[in-house]
Amino acid sequence: MDHQTARPPARAANDTNGIRVPDAAHRYPLQPLADAMGLSLAAACRALGVSGSTMQDYRHRGLTERVADRLAVRAGFHPAEVWPDWGHRVCDNELCGATFLPERNGQRFCTPICRRRTASRRWHNERYANDPAFAAQKRADQARRRAEAGPAARRAEAARKRASYARHAVAVNTRRRVRYQAAKEGT
Ligand SMILES: [Zn+2]
Repeated sequence: MDHQTARPPARAANDTNGIRVPDAAHRYPLQPLADAMGLSLAAACRALGVSGSTMQDYRHRGLTERVADRLAVRAGFHPAEVWPDWGHRVCDNELCGATFLPERNGQRFCTPICRRRTASRRWHNERYANDPAFAAQKRADQARRRAEAGPAARRAEAARKRASYARHAVAVNTRRRVRYQAAKEGT
């Protein structure tokens, strides 16, 4: 099987709860730090003592929160002065994708509504995967709703889904990629 397109291995349902997706995914670009220092990227890296493959990595992939903090402080700034979105998180609800400033450590959702919706979706998905009777009932419900709705409503529903995907594609795909990487590294 092609290594690149291989599906990630199935995980225990409770395993997904432990992944800190936004933290792992979030990178701060190097350019604003160089701008704050009034230097070119290369000169800023020299001044910060960053060189070689580390410099390439920072330039192309950006900085993790820890590295961004260290380098900003080394340059004499508070990271929030360099990156206006410092400390913000992307909501863990895949269908939300909003950014928010956490009010406590480890906050993963922008609002309690997003937390409840995600928990409910996980519960539903898990039961759908493990309870054939539940899955059959859900499929029957959906088929009945579709039949009752008629073609115009089906078209509207398809348009709504496309619009939702267009709004959240970046956030959703970033999470998928991070989960895939985490799954790959976990095996
Ligand atoms: Zn949210």
